[in-house]
Amino acid sequence: MKLNARAAGAGLSPTMAAAARPSRHPDPIDLTVGEPEGPPPPEVREAAARAALEGRARYGPVQGLPRLRELLARDLSARDGVARDPDDVLVTAGGKPAILDALRCVLEPGDEVLIPLPAWPTFRDQVAWAGGIPVAVGPDPGLLPAPGALAAAATPRTRAVILNQPCNPTGRVWDAPRLAELATLARDRDLLVIADQVYGTLTLDGPERPLLRAHPELADRTLVVESFSKRFAMTGYRLGCAAGPRALVRAMTALASTSVTHASMLAQHAGIAALALDGTWEAAVRDGLRLRRDRFQAGLAALPGLTCQRPEGALYLFPGVGAWMADHGVATDGELADRLRDAAGVKVLPGTPFGAPGHLRISLAAPLPDLDRALARLTDFFRNAP
Ligand code: PLP
Repeated sequence: MKLNARAAGAGLSPTMAAAARPSRHPDPIDLTVGEPEGPPPPEVREAAARAALEGRARYGPVQGLPRLRELLARDLSARDGVARDPDDVLVTAGGKPAILDALRCVLEPGDEVLIPLPAWPTFRDQVAWAGGIPVAVGPDPGLLPAPGALAAAATPRTRAVILNQPCNPTGRVWDAPRLAELATLARDRDLLVIADQVYGTLTLDGPERPLLRAHPELADRTLVVESFSKRFAMTGYRLGCAAGPRALVRAMTALASTSVTHASMLAQHAGIAALALDGTWEAAVRDGLRLRRDRFQAGLAALPGLTCQRPEGALYLFPGVGAWMADHGVATDGELADRLRDAAGVKVLPGTPFGAPGHLRISLAAPLPDLDRALARLTDFFRNAP
């Protein structure tokens, strides 16, 4: 079978492949997965079950259930500080298809999309699937874009930029000068900003800091992408949304009408229940994550040859291990992750696929006792390995 050029070179994402590799350790601890611990809130599970039992799972509107769009518009308006109409919202089968479909609606073949690194590797693959050219923008030593780096990477073919914050893998949120630089560039070059905010509600220090709250003037060129996956532990429900310029939302709706039709009705009913919650469940999740972050980050930062920034949100730590690797003759972070998996019994992801060699991505979304055992094993490894 002859595949087209895009499909011929495609494979599963490198992070999925690394996560799937089995460990030779008798009792491995898996810290590769970006999936919140535990099930969704009981109200969410009950709503999905009730919708199934009552037969409320027939075809529905492509754009999503009106009640869900209304709740999403209200939720996003409050969080972003920009008024949203339910017509500006498309319910999607997760954050992933929202980003891919947006790119498919705006890119002409060969158009370029800026991706500030470190970044979730899927962004690069999505741009390529949509016929565009991903343009990586390298980070400064603090793992945020160096001043001027975005503008320097822009060309007349640049059509969009993807901003993900809190970021997978670093957990970082951009500071005001960097956001201002992005805003100026987007305006001057007429770019679409895809604001991936799937970790927004997992901001751990102070209130969420979305792009539009700082730069509401970008509302007519920003597509906000949201998901129920990380926020409500609803990864397998496949539910998310895109909200932004109405012409783009309309085009994405037309595209969805030829593919998924709409997100699962069972998931949409569950989503309505999730957005009706009072925030207590989410606050408890944030408390648990904060505890995990503080304990694990301090433990890693104390190890010789390691650096570990304190993430402002999301589910991950992203320690720098370049100095340790140089001291111990380890050539790549992939080789180090292999050794950790097989010798230390801790599965983590290498930083290279995220565009930051010399780092590891460690998920905090695991039971606390597992994290404590993993930290003890990593401490032993990094202190004593030859
Ligand atoms: N964006 C980022 C940065 C992610 O890390 C993920 C999932 O890992 C997603 C989007 C998509 O999540 P979903 O498609 O489950 O909503």
